[in-house]
Amino acid sequence: MKINIIRNIVLAVAVLFSSHIFGQDVLAEQAPMDTQMAMIDSVVLNRLIEIDMYEYPAEDLYPEWSNDYAHKYTNVVMPDSLLIDLTGFCMPTEGTKVTDIFGYRPRRRRMHYGLDVKVERGDTIRAAFDGKVRYVSYQRRGYGYYVVIRHPNGLETLYAHLTKQLVGENDVVMAGDPIGLGGNTGRSTGTHLHFETRLLGKALNPALMFDFPNQDVTGDTYLYLKPKKKVYDPSDPDTYYKVKSGDTLGRIAARKGTTVKNLCKLNGITTQSTLRVGQILRLY
Ligand SMILES: [Zn+2]
Repeated sequence: MKINIIRNIVLAVAVLFSSHIFGQDVLAEQAPMDTQMAMIDSVVLNRLIEIDMYEYPAEDLYPEWSNDYAHKYTNVVMPDSLLIDLTGFCMPTEGTKVTDIFGYRPRRRRMHYGLDVKVERGDTIRAAFDGKVRYVSYQRRGYGYYVVIRHPNGLETLYAHLTKQLVGENDVVMAGDPIGLGGNTGRSTGTHLHFETRLLGKALNPALMFDFPNQDVTGDTYLYLKPKKKVYDPSDPDTYYKVKSGDTLGRIAARKGTTVKNLCKLNGITTQSTLRVGQILRLY
C-alpha cells in the first residue's frame, strides 16, 4: 500500500512539473485546458496532503528516519511475525555466483551479516525494491562505499564494496534503479557485492528471500518469525560473552550471575579447559 505513496510522489512531481512549465503554452492556445489543469492541480494537492501523512517507507514499523547511522542494534523490539512482500523485486546483480553465505564464520570468529555475490568492477548494482535511500557512506576497513535503502515492505537492503555510489540520501528509488557500481572497496578481497537484508537493524539471511543462482525471489512473500530460541548474536551481551585477557570461568560466572558448572555444560567444556581470548561463551 505504501508503495503507492512513493509512486504518487513521483507522479505528483511529474504532474506539477508539466502543468507549471509545459502547461503554460498549452493554456494560452486552448482555453478549455484551463479547467482540466485546475482539476489536476487539486488532485496533486490532495496527493501532496496524502504524502505528507507518510514521511518515510515502513514508518509504522520504524521509530524514525535518520541519515546518521547504517544500523541500530540496541533497544529494538522485533515483531513476533511479519509478512514481507517480495513482489516487485529486482535482483541487485546479474551475477548468479554466490561466493560467501550468511552466518557465523568460525575461522574468523565473526558474523557475516550478508551474502556475497560475484560481480565485476563497474557492474550495475540495482535497488532490490522500491524505496528511499537512508544512508550513503564509506568505511575504509569495512563496507567500503555502501548504500542502505529502506523499503515499504519493512526491509532495509545494504549494498557494499561499491566502486561508486549513484544515489544520495533521501532519494526515492524504484526497484531496478541503478544505485551503484560493483567493486572491491573496503575490507574485500576480489570484486563482489556484499548484500544484506535487514529488518529493524537485525540481519536476516538474504538467501531466505533472494535466490541469486536462479535470479528470483523465494516466493511472493517471506514470513519473518521471531526466533523462539536465542540465536547467536554477538551484539547481545546477555546471552553471549567474549572472553577477555585474564578471564577465568570462575570470574565470568561471578560477574554474569551464573555458575562454572552451568558455563561448562552450556559450552561443552570442563573446568580444565583453557579459555582463549576472543572465545565466545554462551551464558544462558
Ligand atoms: Zn560479505
